Amino acid sequence: MFFRRLWNFLGGRNLAMDLGTANSLLYCPGEGIVLNEPSVVAQDRMSGEVIAVGAEAKRYLGRTPERVEVIRPMRDGVIADFDTTSVMISSFIAKASRGLKLLRPRLIICVPLGITPVEKRAVIEAGQRGGARDVRLIEEPLAVAIGAGLPFDQPLGNMVLDIGGGTSEVAVVSLSAIAHAESIRVAGDEMNEAIQRYFQNEFQMQIGENMAEQVKITLGSAVEQPEPLSMEVLGKNLVEGAPRSVIASDAHVREAIREPLNAIMQAVRNALEKTPPELAADIADSGLLLAGGGSLLRGLDVLIKRETGLNAVLDSDPLTTVARGTGRVLEKGKAYEGALLE
Ligand code: ADP
Ligand code: MG
Repeated sequence: MFFRRLWNFLGGRNLAMDLGTANSLLYCPGEGIVLNEPSVVAQDRMSGEVIAVGAEAKRYLGRTPERVEVIRPMRDGVIADFDTTSVMISSFIAKASRGLKLLRPRLIICVPLGITPVEKRAVIEAGQRGGARDVRLIEEPLAVAIGAGLPFDQPLGNMVLDIGGGTSEVAVVSLSAIAHAESIRVAGDEMNEAIQRYFQNEFQMQIGENMAEQVKITLGSAVEQPEPLSMEVLGKNLVEGAPRSVIASDAHVREAIREPLNAIMQAVRNALEKTPPELAADIADSGLLLAGGGSLLRGLDVLIKRETGLNAVLDSDPLTTVARGTGRVLEKGKAYEGALLE
């Protein structure tokens, strides 16, 4: 413990990073989560200069002057914008590495499933630019299984579903490896967009991205709720452009997000179909572990049971599962080496 603190103080703060499409987290052994910010960058459209990163940049969303462009460089689960992603990674690492910066820390970054070799290189280089000595990568479903405390290194099938911002990933993990995985680009963002479209069609009203997310979190549900929910939603009248508000209910939002939810259910069914029979039998027993912010949708476990027959269990803190899992790999060192991608 003393040495770890001394090491951290000297600037060798080893870090585990969850590079998410919506949120990025940093975990430091012995300290826990030391950074949790939206994966957003605001930059000057003319000069390309970075104005703000993370939470500060997210506040610009939807209210930027012409000159400022707000970028979510990981938006669709892939790195849509190399340079901006690198700037963002380096900036988060710099923010979390205090101390004297005498020692170069180790870094493990959890990346979305199926990123290309070129993208892997870009993430590793960004980590190195951020000051890390040794950058290793781990794929998301393994980090989820480890973070949730599943017996990921046993000859047993464990199924995990991570619904993030840009992608939903469902995977079967066994013997420290991914036995089968499906990744679809339908997750939280897609639900927000579906809510925006619904308000346009149903109420002839335009609402912003942040408002749509608020509506989803406040009213969203996968199945009918015992108590009806409602809230006032503010936007703009499509015809005259005048401000307008409506009272929306949980039923409206259920209707709005039906399609993206169906796509996620289909991905789970596809994954089940392609799972070898022995592992499928394990999963019928152990159930489906849910992680990622999107899994916080009310009643998702009920819908999953209804649609796939699986017992779904929500992780204790689904927004931090990946960061904690990646952190655990860092803490365990050689013992968990096999879980790393490269
Ligand atoms: P990523 O790993 O892609 O960065 P996260 O796991 O951080 O994504 O999840 C972010 C997504 O979770 C966002 O789309 C956000 O709107 C959604 N989300 C967060 N809280 C809730 C909630 N209570 N209900 C439904 N969706 C939620
Ligand atoms: Mg994630």
